[in-house]
Amino acid sequence: MEIIQGIPVSPGVVIGRVFTLDDNRRRIVRRHIPADTVDEQITRLNDALKASLEELGEVFTQAEQEMGTETANIFRFHIGMLADNTLIEPIRNMIRDQLVTTEFAVYRTFSNLAGQFAAKKDSVFTTKVNDIHDLSARVLHHLIGSHASRLNELDHEAVIIANDLTPSQTAGFNRDQVIAFATDLGGQTSHTAIVARALGIPAVVGCGRITDHATDNQAVIVDGDRGLVIFDPTEEKLDEYQAYIEQSHLVQISLDELKNLPSQTRDGVDITLTGNIEFPEEISTVLSSGGQSVGLYRTEFLFLTSTHEPTEEEHFQAYQKCVELLNGKPLTIRTVDLGADKYTQSQFETPERNPFLGLRSIRYCLRSLPMFKTQLRAILRASALGPIRVMFPLVTNPSEFRHARMLIRDTMEDLAEEGIAFDPDIKVGMMIEVPAAALMASTFAREVDFFSIGTNDLVQYTLAVDRTNERVAHLFNFAHPAVAKLVREVVRAARRRDVPVSCCGEAAGEPEYALLLIGLGLRTLSVTASSIPRLKRLIRSVTITQCERIAKKALTLESDVQVSVYLRDQLRKVVPESTDAAAV
Ligand code: PEP
Ligand code: MG
Repeated sequence: MEIIQGIPVSPGVVIGRVFTLDDNRRRIVRRHIPADTVDEQITRLNDALKASLEELGEVFTQAEQEMGTETANIFRFHIGMLADNTLIEPIRNMIRDQLVTTEFAVYRTFSNLAGQFAAKKDSVFTTKVNDIHDLSARVLHHLIGSHASRLNELDHEAVIIANDLTPSQTAGFNRDQVIAFATDLGGQTSHTAIVARALGIPAVVGCGRITDHATDNQAVIVDGDRGLVIFDPTEEKLDEYQAYIEQSHLVQISLDELKNLPSQTRDGVDITLTGNIEFPEEISTVLSSGGQSVGLYRTEFLFLTSTHEPTEEEHFQAYQKCVELLNGKPLTIRTVDLGADKYTQSQFETPERNPFLGLRSIRYCLRSLPMFKTQLRAILRASALGPIRVMFPLVTNPSEFRHARMLIRDTMEDLAEEGIAFDPDIKVGMMIEVPAAALMASTFAREVDFFSIGTNDLVQYTLAVDRTNERVAHLFNFAHPAVAKLVREVVRAARRRDVPVSCCGEAAGEPEYALLLIGLGLRTLSVTASSIPRLKRLIRSVTITQCERIAKKALTLESDVQVSVYLRDQLRKVVPESTDAAAV
């Protein structure tokens, strides 16, 4: 038995058989052609491009139907690239000038481009590298059929093990056959991870050299809940996981029964559970999971799945769709949180050395005013259609919040002059993601309409641990007492001024951390849809007094390990069934 730890990007557990996928990036050797066959080679190129574009059009339509426009836009990006003459003309030139085969010219041009992107050492580029390889493989397939994926041979249920998967490969999976996947490469924010979640296929990425361990038909367990891939599991491990799956199934049934029951503690305190979304299409899952509204809409995904900066109309349509789907329930839109690992590095001539400490989030928006105002206009226009709140990410200084809020006022004036409707009383809040903001919460509380604590970044900046760096992942722990103290500070400051405060970081979705957060005074938690049912059960099983006692004790402990152990222990004691399905 071999257990490999990776990054869980799409939940669920399956037991199956391995099906290895070839690396698309197979080498094509340089072959020369006679000068009088150049035209013929260029015709081959044009035909292959045409066929690839047609195929992409179909993939786009299918993806749009199954996963919504935002996710499908990944393929619009592919289409845009193939239709871009600045990319394609050099291929033609190479055939003409160097007298090489079309396949070599395609392979070399795309590989060079991918190499340039990869050299930037930034996850945003890495994602694009994947897209470029994907496109290269597609065109090569139409030229020489070499990309004819092994997937075509798949005629049974299987777990795909690959070095990396492109978004279109993932979107093209037959869900009756591909029951899970695991890859050597990849990260939480890759397009492939987004598509996996949208399709509901359990997935683990960033496993290191998992492909070295896998052979076809080998028995494997993919644990998308904890990011584990287990090859050749022992009988005992299989039994454990069988039990886990059955138990998860039963747990799911019992959780479903709670869906329409109030999210209220045993001593009668309401805890509002809202959903975090990246795409409007996720709203139906949030609501069907028992979520009361959307507490965090990560609007930067409009940029991440598009070939261009979204227009005001594109922003507006996305927000309008959310408002319609929510049907009167509030929507909290976070203005674009670009930068660090998302998007901006590819726009800079020289990528930043420390992108997480660089021009990201509200800092980037305040330096990109036309882009920012475009989004604010769209948000304000949508606010006329239903209840919308707006919040700014990574605010560190009061001046940033004031500047951003002033831009909202300016935009309101513009809209009013143009006779366009908006909500003049729209609530304007901020994320608390930086220790400075947490410590200054009482100052901010005089000006903001609400706070939302983003524990992902708060942990990163408090503990000086890059949230995307697997080498220090063991140090990234919400249970660190320093983080809990900052959260307590924010809640106290908010209460003193009667400012609503919620938590929308990943920690809020973990039952043991939710115990702590509720104990620290939080009454609204915003989490991914799949975490809502389990959280509701926890809430309905505890009293506020229990949570407060737990938080008080946790704050006296001195390390993240001690707090983690204590919280797990308490969770087991106060709500034993919460840990049942996780007891493998
Ligand atoms: C956070 O930092 O906790 C948060 C919710 O924002 P994101 O994960 O999008 O950075
Ligand atoms: Mg954040």
